[in-house]
Amino acid sequence: MVLDASIATSFLKDYPRKDGLSVKQLIDSANFGGLTYNDFLVLPGLINFPSSDVNLEAKLTKRITLNAPFVSSPMDTVTEENMAIHMALLGGIGIIHHNCTAEEQAEMVRKVKKYENGFISDPIVVSPSVTVGQVKKMKETLGFTSFPVTENGKVGGKLVGIITSRDVQFHEENESPVSEVMTTELIVGKEGITLTEGNELLRTSKKGKLPIVDADYNLISLISRTDLQKNQNYPNASKSFHSKQLLCGAAIGTIEADKERLAKLVEAGLDVVVLDSSNGSSIFQLNMIKFIKETYPQLEVIAGNVVTREQAALLIEAGADALRIGMGSGSICITQEVMACGRPQGTAVYNVTEFANRFGVPCIADGGIGNIGHITKALALGASTVMMGGLLAGTSETPGDYFYRDGKRLKTYRGMGSIDAMQQTNTNANASTSRYFSESDKVLVAQGVSGSVVDKGSITKFVPYLYNGLQHSLQDIGIKSSAELRSKVDNEEVRFEFRTASAQFEGGVHGLHSYEKRLHN
Ligand code: IMP
Repeated sequence: MVLDASIATSFLKDYPRKDGLSVKQLIDSANFGGLTYNDFLVLPGLINFPSSDVNLEAKLTKRITLNAPFVSSPMDTVTEENMAIHMALLGGIGIIHHNCTAEEQAEMVRKVKKYENGFISDPIVVSPSVTVGQVKKMKETLGFTSFPVTENGKVGGKLVGIITSRDVQFHEENESPVSEVMTTELIVGKEGITLTEGNELLRTSKKGKLPIVDADYNLISLISRTDLQKNQNYPNASKSFHSKQLLCGAAIGTIEADKERLAKLVEAGLDVVVLDSSNGSSIFQLNMIKFIKETYPQLEVIAGNVVTREQAALLIEAGADALRIGMGSGSICITQEVMACGRPQGTAVYNVTEFANRFGVPCIADGGIGNIGHITKALALGASTVMMGGLLAGTSETPGDYFYRDGKRLKTYRGMGSIDAMQQTNTNANASTSRYFSESDKVLVAQGVSGSVVDKGSITKFVPYLYNGLQHSLQDIGIKSSAELRSKVDNEEVRFEFRTASAQFEGGVHGLHSYEKRLHN
């Protein structure tokens, strides 16, 4: 019998078979082994809204909410101040690594907290005794055309002039000090000036640079004409509720010296600390959480890493404000190989979040995020945010210089448990070795590799690509916000499907002679 088409949707309601699996069925029936993100898909839902309506607000910790669920990893080839500033501007947050001295790390935190969009807070400055020849060289290497001159040659010193290309271009005597040729009639902005006012001053004065000075004429920052067009608006920026400064995170270890490090970071304005360990269920970490909660009750603590409920329970009880999930899933990681320890990331994310969410403890899915689909899957499995290393590596905001190999523009990306990172630590600080409980080892056992990744351009383009892509992905599932995703996964409306090996092959590009994979314009 052929049914009447007009009853198709009501007929479906009582249909004995449901498409796909609930999240629980997906995980439970994977009893042959753990799941990775590539092992399953989410089935599509009804689209009755534009993708721009999808709200990506996400809880980083109990008390911190981000406008986008993106966190950059505390790795020395991923997050220093430049990455942290831009991650926060774009709605996420950066966690500054600790493979450096406490002072260096605190200075980076300070720069993020002091950052004001459009104001260059650490401009290159010269002293009056620097020679014309030196300035000409600086121009060649830095590509800038003018520098403020202060009495002590530093930001914070008294402003005495500006040296521009016009001042040195036709000056033959390279030995002359800058003080002889610099421009001393200056147009300056006073501390507290807004970016709009500063830009207006630049426009009317027809100058290239506007130094900003305090009441004693000490240089505080600079606005540059060439940046005028670049100064985008960042409506999504993650900011502290009260101070309106950008949010900043930083990582520390769990040894005694980390308490002093933390004091410096807190003084610099830190909002959230990550206890950086490959295995968070250690007595050292439990003690550190308790110490932090007693000493700095306002500071949010992200504990981890964990991959089981048992590990999570210990940290939740000790007072963790969020958990970081992942062991062995990172793109530079060899932990599972070497330590025989870890867990496939999909299974780890589901099991830990299913437990931690009951206690109101948000979770970060850390490692193994290789594309937008992986982000959607991590969120669908229960994570609130994702932490990325490899996906952000190679962008211009990461530390380190680009280099060329085989005609490709590359940057270094290395695991914090690579021999390179651990050896740098031994001569400098303690981050990598303490992450892997290896401070006293004579023979270092690597848990990561050091490699290179192709130039990805700036995260000011790449993160908006992730953001828009994630909105489209959730739209496809028929979901308008992370909260709706959570509830519809829990009430089994969002359905999942396993992917066999041939389904994975089918889901990739196939059958072409050649192609170019451009991810965004
Ligand atoms: P990715 O985003 O897949 O590249 O993974 C980044 C994550 O890998 C980091 O956030 C850390 O949790 C983890 N990780 C960093 N360095 C190492 C390492 O040397 N070995 C194992 N895991 C690492």
